[in-house]
Amino acid sequence: MRVRFRGKVFGKKLINFSAPTRTANEAVLGDLGWWELKVRQDKARLKLLRRLMDYEGGYIRNLLSDDDGDWLRYTDKVLNCLDINREVARYLDEKQWRGLLTNRTQAAEEKRWRDAMGRKSKLRTYRTVKDKRVFEPYLNFDSRRTRTLLTRLRSGTNFLRIEKGRYENEAVEDRVCYWCDKVEDERHLLMECDLYNDVRDHVQEMWDKETPQDKNTAFRNLLGGMKVGKEERGITHQIINSTKMREAFLKRL
Ligand SMILES: [Zn+2]
Repeated sequence: MRVRFRGKVFGKKLINFSAPTRTANEAVLGDLGWWELKVRQDKARLKLLRRLMDYEGGYIRNLLSDDDGDWLRYTDKVLNCLDINREVARYLDEKQWRGLLTNRTQAAEEKRWRDAMGRKSKLRTYRTVKDKRVFEPYLNFDSRRTRTLLTRLRSGTNFLRIEKGRYENEAVEDRVCYWCDKVEDERHLLMECDLYNDVRDHVQEMWDKETPQDKNTAFRNLLGGMKVGKEERGITHQIINSTKMREAFLKRL
């Protein structure tokens, strides 16, 4: 299977895009820069509406004038959500109509996506590293394991105590690191815990010295929030080795 996406073929890597089933939709779709299937279907329906208006034939005229018909009722509902009057389609050409639909859908979806993100506590890290719904460069990293781990760390659906403790109904302050007793979340793993100091120091040497980073930027970058460049190697090294080290340490407990 190959998937065409914005004119580029991402087939191979998309198949490899694997996230645990509990991963929040907002994170998966957000990182792919995709809209939900329903939204894409609704947009296709509205494009069709514009095309149908050019026909004067009997059946289609009935379809478009039957205000009680299911097709039109649902179509109007979608238009309503986008704050578009159906009659506008009559005096816009296809290109203008498509443009209007894209703008309104994008705005409505961004808002819905942001609201949903705000409601989910497990997306705490995601909210800090993601502000636009666009395809994330880390999904093109060479290492499949890194891509998967990054999705898990970004989305909060992962192996860390902050998430595991949730399933056991532990209070947040009790979801602590086995090594140092501080709350173990994504930032703790990548930026703070002493257990991973060696890995971190080694990676520091791989970063470009000319781009000094504050802690927040560094955290975002580590989680794949930058254009893929020479840093890919450093990020891959830290993500893979920190998680390996963690597993090895837990085995010895
Ligand atoms: Zn720790």
